[in-house]
Amino acid sequence: MSETIFSRIIRGELPCHRLYEDEHVLAFLDIFPLSPGHTLVIPKQAVATLDQLSDDASAAIGRVLPRLCRAVMAATGVSDYNILQNNGAAAHQAVFHVHFHIIPKPSAEAGLGIGWPAQKLGDSDGQDMAEKIRGQLK
Ligand code: AMP
Repeated sequence: MSETIFSRIIRGELPCHRLYEDEHVLAFLDIFPLSPGHTLVIPKQAVATLDQLSDDASAAIGRVLPRLCRAVMAATGVSDYNILQNNGAAAHQAVFHVHFHIIPKPSAEAGLGIGWPAQKLGDSDGQDMAEKIRGQLK
């Protein structure tokens, strides 16, 4: 259980620009948007990172996320957007309650900027890593 500013928003103790709510999910406008329409979609379950989220809460987010994306697209008139979901301080998470950002990308300058320091995956590195991850899924 992690108590954050988002728990207080869920309980109605702090204001937000509420967009959608059901038993498991709340969506509202980000207070410091990267672009107009920047939306946060959060589970009501108070856990810090996605790996901790219950199947029910995950399913509820998955059910509504595309619909929220369509609403943001239609309302902003912007067809390009990013979904961002940060886990852990080193991964730029500031509020330790799971949240998905929907960030419209109206132009090259506005919206989310991404550093992408990609390096080609070597064959043996790929085999080793895939084997390790598959082993953890069993
Ligand atoms: P992250 O870095 O992924 O943890 O992002 C946290 C986000 O929460 C940031 O984009 C903040 O602007 C946003 N945020 C923090 N407090 C509030 C609030 N009271 N209402 C709406 N958005 C908030």
